[in-house]
Amino acid sequence: MDCIFCQIVEGKIPSDIVYQDEEIIAFRDIKPQAPLHLVIIPRKHIPSLDQLKESDSALVGRMVAVANQLAKDEGVAQKGYRVVINCGKEGGQLVPHLHLHLLGGRKLSDQIG
Ligand code: AMP
Ligand code: ZN
Repeated sequence: MDCIFCQIVEGKIPSDIVYQDEEIIAFRDIKPQAPLHLVIIPRKHIPSLDQLKESDSALVGRMVAVANQLAKDEGVAQKGYRVVINCGKEGGQLVPHLHLHLLGGRKLSDQIG
């Protein structure tokens, strides 16, 4: 498996991990688009939101809960932040392992995309 995020999960490539539990890992984005830019992923390889199974719903709910907690921990919760999931080519997904972006620390564009 040459999935870059699976390699982060396995510790084969270094990353700046800010949170981990038995199901989820969060790390700082290597090319941050905002002062705070975290990537939150499931340890399990799910290729995209489009490939999500009904049984993965609770896992995605937990990913959102982790984003909520990290926004508090990183000090952006009060001013506001954005959570994004890119899906597929036109959605701007580059890494084919489901992930959620947590962006904050500056005024983000009023436009969604
Ligand atoms: P996406 O376009 O939604 O697939 O986003 C993938 C994100 O992963 C981008 O923001 C990249 O900068 C980030 N990324 C890619 N490789 C790494 C890495 N090794 N460590 C941290 N972030 C990465
Ligand atoms: Zn993967």
